[in-house]
Amino acid sequence: MFLPELLIEARNLKVKEGTISGYCVICRRWTEYGHDLKKVFSSNFTMWSYLYSGDCVCEECSILFSDQIYRRHSWVVWKQGFEIIKRKEAKQVLFDPPDPPFFINIIKIGQKQQWIKAIEHVAYSRDFYWFAHEDYGLVQFVKRKARLMDSIIKKGLEVGLTKTELRGNIKPKTCEKLLKKNCIELLDDIKRFKNNQLWEVLIDVS
Ligand SMILES: [Zn+2]
Repeated sequence: MFLPELLIEARNLKVKEGTISGYCVICRRWTEYGHDLKKVFSSNFTMWSYLYSGDCVCEECSILFSDQIYRRHSWVVWKQGFEIIKRKEAKQVLFDPPDPPFFINIIKIGQKQQWIKAIEHVAYSRDFYWFAHEDYGLVQFVKRKARLMDSIIKKGLEVGLTKTELRGNIKPKTCEKLLKKNCIELLDDIKRFKNNQLWEVLIDVS
């Protein structure tokens, strides 16, 4: 199942047919009812480099650009529903998503449409899936690993680390403080996960 199909079903959307035949720049499928690229993408569209070469946006994919809600908000879609995710709910949705198939999109400022890369990545497992994040693109969620990371992040925040420090930029003074508190393991864990996308996302939503 492609992401636009899931959205169409969940939100009961009406597909509008265009007049251009050719390959869709979003999903690469052939269509006879595609829409003109210039009409689908506004002048401030920033994701040109993520498009495939093609002729049009197919009638299903164009749904994704017909409503600003997909760019401006975090959301989750599954067969029976579509919900905006509030900032403080993002972590809970990641750990407890709806029944598959579903898809989760998390934004920071609402500029980049990272789900463009995720058209073929609708989730079929609640424990192992891909989701879109505005800053990190397509990110893999592995529940077992995420639980471990989450417990380390919680511990880090408890002993007074900032989110910047959890990302691996630990000041020497903080290192000393952690060593005094017998938190050497915590330092090792932070180093181990530095630059891991899921780790960064989980810090962000904590
Ligand atoms: Zn398409």
